[in-house]
Amino acid sequence: MNGRGKNRAFELTQEDDRYILEEQIEIAYDQVGFSVLGLLLGSAGVAAIYYPTGIFLEVIVWFLTLSAALAYRLFLLHTYNRHRDDYPLERWKMHYGIAMLASAVILGSSALYIFRLDSFVHQFYIIFLLAGVGAVASGTLASLPALSIAFLGILLAPIFLVMFFHDGILYQMMGFLVIVFFLLLVVVTKRIHLRIMETLHLKILYKKAADELYITDEYFETIFKEAPVGIFSYSTDLIILDSNAEMAALLRVDPKEMIGLDMKLSPDRSILHALSTILEGEKGSYDGPYTAMVNGQQLHIALKTTPLYDASGEIIGGVAIVEDVSERIKSEELMRYRANHDMLTNIPNRTLLMDRLEQAIARYRRNGDLAALLFMDLDHFKCINDSMGHHAGDMLLVEMAKRLRGICRELDMVARFGGDEFVMLLSDLGSDPRHAASDAELVAERIHEVLSHPFDIGLTEPLATSVSIGIAVVGHADQSAQDLLKFADSAMYQAKKEGRGTFCFYQEETNQWIKKRLLLENALRNSLKNGELEIFYQPIVEVKTKKIVGAEALLRWNHPQLGLMMPDEIIPIAEERGMIVSIGDWVMQEAFMQFRRWRDEHPNGKVLTHIAINVSAIQFRQKDFVEKVMGMIQNAQISPSMVEMELTESLFIDKIDSVIETMKRLRAVGINLSIDDFGTGYSSLSYLKRLPFATLKIDKGFVRDIMSDKDDALLIETILSIAQIFNLNVVAEGVEDIEQYEFLRQRNCDYYQGFLCSQPVPSKKFDSLLLENCKQMNEVAAS
Ligand code: C2E
Ligand code: CA
Ligand code: CA
Repeated sequence: MNGRGKNRAFELTQEDDRYILEEQIEIAYDQVGFSVLGLLLGSAGVAAIYYPTGIFLEVIVWFLTLSAALAYRLFLLHTYNRHRDDYPLERWKMHYGIAMLASAVILGSSALYIFRLDSFVHQFYIIFLLAGVGAVASGTLASLPALSIAFLGILLAPIFLVMFFHDGILYQMMGFLVIVFFLLLVVVTKRIHLRIMETLHLKILYKKAADELYITDEYFETIFKEAPVGIFSYSTDLIILDSNAEMAALLRVDPKEMIGLDMKLSPDRSILHALSTILEGEKGSYDGPYTAMVNGQQLHIALKTTPLYDASGEIIGGVAIVEDVSERIKSEELMRYRANHDMLTNIPNRTLLMDRLEQAIARYRRNGDLAALLFMDLDHFKCINDSMGHHAGDMLLVEMAKRLRGICRELDMVARFGGDEFVMLLSDLGSDPRHAASDAELVAERIHEVLSHPFDIGLTEPLATSVSIGIAVVGHADQSAQDLLKFADSAMYQAKKEGRGTFCFYQEETNQWIKKRLLLENALRNSLKNGELEIFYQPIVEVKTKKIVGAEALLRWNHPQLGLMMPDEIIPIAEERGMIVSIGDWVMQEAFMQFRRWRDEHPNGKVLTHIAINVSAIQFRQKDFVEKVMGMIQNAQISPSMVEMELTESLFIDKIDSVIETMKRLRAVGINLSIDDFGTGYSSLSYLKRLPFATLKIDKGFVRDIMSDKDDALLIETILSIAQIFNLNVVAEGVEDIEQYEFLRQRNCDYYQGFLCSQPVPSKKFDSLLLENCKQMNEVAAS
């Protein structure tokens, strides 16, 4: 505001000129009434003193003419007052001029009477009248100087002429005096005119300044009232003088409550500095939390203050502009939270964990406080996700996060690392590495314990899972957060390798193992097209006759450097890396062809009644699985009834309906289904009744100890009797010696597989097995 409107030179606009002219005319018309009265009296005096004289008649005519002119003036004044705005200014000016000049002519002509009578009184009276009229007119007509001068000229010309042409030098001198008098009056009229014009200009100036001031004021009022920010003014002793509605709304108080508040008494002193900065003539600002004085409202504000000056430049207080930025701060906080947390489980994410890990490492470098990282990976999560759906997978992760957080100390942190990976950071483990390691071990055991209770996530049955944990303890000042993470990760892989649901500390060897695994993944990708995959076949033997009646296809990989690789190493990688379908297809195709060749070309081939294929859950859940299998069967020209598909129980934990649907379709085309590894998985007897299985395969783990472990023996007996009830064939796996065989034979087990007959062998070797048809074993049995 300061300086606005000051020192501004006004240019006169056209409008201003009209205004001035209007004022000039107004001034002129203004004195009409008063001058008519004066003139009327003066001229009546002339008539009166000439009354007794011989030229009375002439004078009366003169008087009447003048009266008519004056009457015209009055009429003009009257119409002007009434219809001023109906006619243009120029017309009023012209008519006025005519009226004036007309009376000037008439008045001036009175000079002709001066020497008609030889009476000093009469002469004097006329001269006096003309001088008086001239003096008055020089003032009253000064607003229109040209008219004034013309008036004076016309008024005084006759008297000048009368004097000048009268006999006698004295009269001529008086004529000159008339001219001097005229010139004096012109000067007077001009000076008065200047004054009038000056006054009019000042008036315009004043009017303009007043307008501007009004606008400025209104402008300020509008800003103050309507601005979408809180504004308040305050005195130098920090007492609020005025505040706008927005300010009151922002604090959620009545506007009246604000006025008069002494900010010095505010319990929250955070804004006082910004408020009093103005006392030094400087602007102040504050950005931060503020608790309102009146109602304790918690806000986050941005405040700016500016000093206020009076006309003499003294600081008289300040204006504060306040913005409520609470919402902005809140959403910023939310953004920050989101950037640092996992949205699904609501626990910290990788970013926040890495941050904390770096802090922990810094503490270790500073004062030797140890920290440990526990890297957890949910076992079989991909399988759970694929078979039970992502929703179930998500639920499981959420529940896991809850349990993990439950056992987390306050100074520790558990974070989700993406997918099914969680990481727990243990800080401040003291300075003894052995203590730190055993602390970490205890936590790992605790983790296994809390996760060992099955999860109820709305599936048909609670879900049991486990995690593999890799532990790395910070052990060197050079180690970075990334290093430690890598170590824990590789230890986790080691743990997985040693059997799921375990934990493992980081060791150098783990690193080597990781490298190998990466190598394997890449190599496996090329194994198919490089022809490195092979199928071994293990005979399935009929217990009663000891004859080979079938074969199970088992995958092998002839790695160029690492040699023969077993499926336990191949299948998990193939499943995780999305290669299982193509490999599985290849196994089926190959096994069917081989089976057909045995049947058609081998002399004993006809004894083979079935070929067993292991099918992984991912393979089985393909939409076009049945069609694909049928295509291969037709291609190999074998009968579907000769195909046995071995499924594991992991297939039945979710989406059971679509699984059953596929199973029924396979059954409908004649393919047989068997439960592999029966007794190990999510085993439920009810499946046996509901699902169209033909065969049940007892896991080799139970067979192994039947001679030494009574429980296992009892379990096998039970399984066998159940199978009888449900009319299922039973295959015992892993039969290695004759005692086991005898045990099974006595209990009417239908088939067996195992080293007793043969290990899985290449197809060529199987050829000779078929030829001998377990001759060796039969011999052993016979002896
Ligand atoms: P599985 O279906 O239970 O296969 C039987 C496993 O037991 C085979 O292991 C076999 O070598 C082994 N075995 C057979 N007789 C004996 C014995 O008397 N004693 C002992 N200790 N073991 C015996 P292998 O070939 O290593 O296969 C391991 C697993 O890999 C298989 O278990 C099967 O689940 C899976 N697998 C193998 N080939 C395939 C395949 O083509 N596709 C899929 N999805 N899985 C496969
Ligand atoms: Ca099998
Ligand atoms: Ca098995």
